[in-house]
Amino acid sequence: MGHFNFHHHFLAKTGIYNLNFKENIPDSIFSAGIHPKDILPDFKSQLLWLKKIAENKNCVAIGECGLDSLVEINLDLQKEAFLKQIYLANELQKPVIIHCVRQFQEVLRMKQFADIPMVFHGFNKKSTLGNQLSEKGFYFSFGRSLLQNVDLQLFFKYVPLEKFFLETDAAEIDIDIIYQKAAEIKDLKIEDLNEIIDKNLQTIGINI
Ligand SMILES: [Zn+2]
Repeated sequence: MGHFNFHHHFLAKTGIYNLNFKENIPDSIFSAGIHPKDILPDFKSQLLWLKKIAENKNCVAIGECGLDSLVEINLDLQKEAFLKQIYLANELQKPVIIHCVRQFQEVLRMKQFADIPMVFHGFNKKSTLGNQLSEKGFYFSFGRSLLQNVDLQLFFKYVPLEKFFLETDAAEIDIDIIYQKAAEIKDLKIEDLNEIIDKNLQTIGINI
C-alpha cells in the first residue's frame, strides 16, 4: 500500500476521499459531511442525505465539517449544522474531520459534545494554538503547508507521534512529497512513518 492520504478530493486517489453533497458513493473509503460553505437554509434535508450515506461501511469519517469565518453562511447556522454532525458521528462512532477557519476557540468549546476523535484537517497554525488543541485531545492532519510554513514545521517537529495524519487535500501534489517532508522534519524513516499513521488510523477507529 502507498502512503495513506488522510483527506483529499480526487476520486482517482487512494486514502480518504471527501464525498461531495449528493454525489454517488464510491467503491473505496470516503468521508461525508456538509462543508460550512455548502450549508443550505434547509439544512434538515442535507442532514437526511448525510445520515443515509454515513451508515455505509466505506464511510470512515464524518466531514469535512466545521466552522469558517470567511464564508457567507450565518455563523449560528454553521454551529447548528456542525453540532448535528457531531451528534451523528457520536451515534455512528465515526471520527470527525474538521474544517476550521478562524474559529478554533469555538470548535474547542464544542468538543465537549463529541465522544469520538476529532481531527483538524489542513492544520497550518503555530505551536501556541497547536499545543493547546493537542492538550485538549484533538488530532491533526497536515498537508501542503508543511512544505514551506516554518512555524508549522516547528509545531510538527514536536507534535506527539500518536496525534497526526498527512493529506493532500485539494492540492494536485503527490502525497509522497508530504511524507518525505514529514519524515525529514521528524527525523524518521518513511517505513516508520507509515507504521505510525497506520496505528493512528486504528486509534481513531479507521481500519483499512
Ligand atoms: Zn478538503
